[in-house]
Amino acid sequence: MSDCIFCKIIKGDIPSTNVYKDEQVTAFRDINPVAPTHILIVPNKHIDSVDMMIVDDEPLIGHLFTVAKQLAAQEGISEGGYRLVVNTGVESGQTVFHIHLHLLGGRKLTKMG
Ligand code: AMP
Repeated sequence: MSDCIFCKIIKGDIPSTNVYKDEQVTAFRDINPVAPTHILIVPNKHIDSVDMMIVDDEPLIGHLFTVAKQLAAQEGISEGGYRLVVNTGVESGQTVFHIHLHLLGGRKLTKMG
């Protein structure tokens, strides 16, 4: 998608602090972190949101979680624990309509509401 900010980051057209990349996934630090570790794990394929994913996307979305686990270990937050968040749709707070997993950790996180 030519007007998608995360597609531009994946292509390297916009700068980002990348922490992981493979054929399926790109991960980079959130520009506005809300925790000491705040990484976005994004499929290289454009999918607007969970609501737009199809059954064929299941392995790809599963891979986001495997990468999240690896990055949590790399960040040293596996033992303490971390939160994985996927906002879906406007009322959830989703602002970038390219599916992504937030990896949050490095401090005690408050209950969600
Ligand atoms: P969400 O609100 O779940 O759609 O999350 C979108 C996230 O993308 C927010 O936490 C933003 O801070 C983050 N974000 C937006 N633009 C950039 C960017 N250029 N580089 C890194 N993170 C970004």
